[in-house]
Amino acid sequence: MRLHCALCGRRMEKAAVMIGAMPVGPTCARKAGLIELSKRKSGLVFPVVGRKSAPKNDRNTIDLFDEVDE
Ligand SMILES: [Zn+2]
Repeated sequence: MRLHCALCGRRMEKAAVMIGAMPVGPTCARKAGLIELSKRKSGLVFPVVGRKSAPKNDRNTIDLFDEVDE
């Protein structure tokens, strides 16, 4: 499954937040303040959380930032 960031159009492994049905990568989400916005549970911005399928001992997983920040 290939995702493209709705803000910069770059490919990414997974979205950090969704704006409606549009995925936004972690880099853009952070820059645009969407991470904070998504926590408020208001409007169309909400976080993409994949923890449901993650094992308990997966705390050391490092976020993968596949977006090239240049
Ligand atoms: Zn982006």
